[in-house]
Amino acid sequence: MPPSLPMSSPSSSCTCGNCARMPTEAENVCCKEIPPVKINIRCTPVSCMTLHPGLEPVCLNIYSLQNALNIYRADYGPLRDRGYERRCRHLAYRSFVSWCWGYLGRKVRVVVPACVVLRIRREFPDTEGQYVGFRAALG
Ligand SMILES: [Zn+2]
Ligand SMILES: [Zn+2]
Repeated sequence: MPPSLPMSSPSSSCTCGNCARMPTEAENVCCKEIPPVKINIRCTPVSCMTLHPGLEPVCLNIYSLQNALNIYRADYGPLRDRGYERRCRHLAYRSFVSWCWGYLGRKVRVVVPACVVLRIRREFPDTEGQYVGFRAALG
């Protein structure tokens, strides 16, 4: 048994210790299971993507997200998500993907790890308590 695996972890595949059980199987992916994310973590002394020093400035910082919105607008036009928090989450996911994968297209399908999804939700909580699952359909 790996010593780092927390006994209370609800996600069987999680080895970073920060993922929780997500509603669908497709969302139950640990940051350690995604190669481009794993490589990113390996450049740091941390053991989970949510502890990566780049996560805050790249994906959670409001000015970075404002810039991401400008780029989005130039490429696709207005962002259709309603509500400030929802827009922020959408842009945070996009920023995360372009950061780790190095590209971002309208049809790109990737899964953001559960721990990062939870971290982004904690930063930008939905005031109505409703979360649209990140379906990985960007654009
Ligand atoms: Zn995990
Ligand atoms: Zn993690």
